Amino acid sequence: MQILPRQPEINIGTAGHVDHGKSTIVDTITGVWTSAHSEELRRGITIKVGYADTAFYKCSCDSPSNFSTKEACDNCKHKGELQRVISFVDVPGHESLMTNMLSGAALIDGAVLIIAANEEVPQPQTREHLLALQMLGIKQIVIAQNKVDLIPRKDIINNYKKIKAFVKGTVAENAPIIPLSAQHGLNIDALIMSIEDNIKTPKKDEQSSPSLQVLRSFDINRPGSSVNKLVGGVLGGSLFKGIFEVGDEIEIRPGYVNKKNGKYQPIFSKISSLSTSAGLMEKVYPSGLIGLGTELDPSLTKSDSLVGSVVGHPDALPTTYNEIDLEVELFDVAIGSPSLLKVEKIKKNESLRLNVGTAVTAGTVSHIKNNIITINLRRPITAEEKSRLAISRRIGERWRLIGVGVIS
Ligand code: GDP
Ligand code: MG
Repeated sequence: MQILPRQPEINIGTAGHVDHGKSTIVDTITGVWTSAHSEELRRGITIKVGYADTAFYKCSCDSPSNFSTKEACDNCKHKGELQRVISFVDVPGHESLMTNMLSGAALIDGAVLIIAANEEVPQPQTREHLLALQMLGIKQIVIAQNKVDLIPRKDIINNYKKIKAFVKGTVAENAPIIPLSAQHGLNIDALIMSIEDNIKTPKKDEQSSPSLQVLRSFDINRPGSSVNKLVGGVLGGSLFKGIFEVGDEIEIRPGYVNKKNGKYQPIFSKISSLSTSAGLMEKVYPSGLIGLGTELDPSLTKSDSLVGSVVGHPDALPTTYNEIDLEVELFDVAIGSPSLLKVEKIKKNESLRLNVGTAVTAGTVSHIKNNIITINLRRPITAEEKSRLAISRRIGERWRLIGVGVIS
């Protein structure tokens, strides 16, 4: 990745059905292919939430060709003016990876919904991802009508009309639709211009105590490194609010499982480094993906073991729940499958899957009173009061999104 002029100020997510071109669009804009894990390369799909950062510049050419990710314009040869630094959060579109999509979507301020022009509209995860955006309160959406290179002009127009009809009555009703080909780099400048015009940087809360959602956690030491060269555990995630500085004391919740009693235990450490795509920083602000170096034993952070945890200053984190009461609103139909299945009421003792922030957990319903359900969680979650959780139920082979719950 190139070193960017400053820390990203906004997170923009991809959304849409598998193979419609989410990762290709991110690659065409940023030059980074986000799916780099061996399993992803083998299966040719995005599995883990990926991210790639870039800067948008605007030069004096006619629009939309005045928008690009390069400072020096190839045409007018002038230096463009820096507009924004963006972090793209690229999510998987396969139906079995909805949980990962929700973890990524929890970090975003706006989204590019990608719809392939050569397929019927809507495909199941086009519908499911749009509903997830709606549920998470993401209102700033631009639609990319991708793969227009594959079909004749009249079919592109027909497909455009179908997209228009599909988004009617949804949060994306007024979203601009940009026809493009990510693979051929066609109309990418128009997409960038549309993102600049329609997905505004929200005002971030820098005053509150910091809260970072962990999306990745690693051990960056090479196997066999000598003990005196070992680097502490690293957490990757996005700061929702507040500011972190190198040297800050931190607490991580719910933390790790204490093998002696099987209970989750908070972890305390200190920030030893902060990195963003603008390089190493002394101080970081909300947005963008941040690599937070700690003094922790790297075995605690290896292999994404702390994904879903929240990092803040000691004793300043929100509540950790082992059992939660949720005020539930169910959808009429479970929309992630090709056929729309009616959502039945939640029953006592049934198992549900819950996503909140980047955390995912499962739980068993222990009590129901009207629309308030109590769930015993298998793995605790740390979340602000009134947080919105995505509720999924196993229907057939897959977990399907069936509703939302607000912690009450
Ligand atoms: P994702 O699952 O939504 O992330 O989709 P990918 O970005 O992995 O793309 C799926 C497939 O579609 C890949 O083989 C891409 O090369 C191809 N693809 C993406 N964009 C275009 C496009 O604009 N035109 C054509 N013809 N193929 C594309
Ligand atoms: Mg992908």
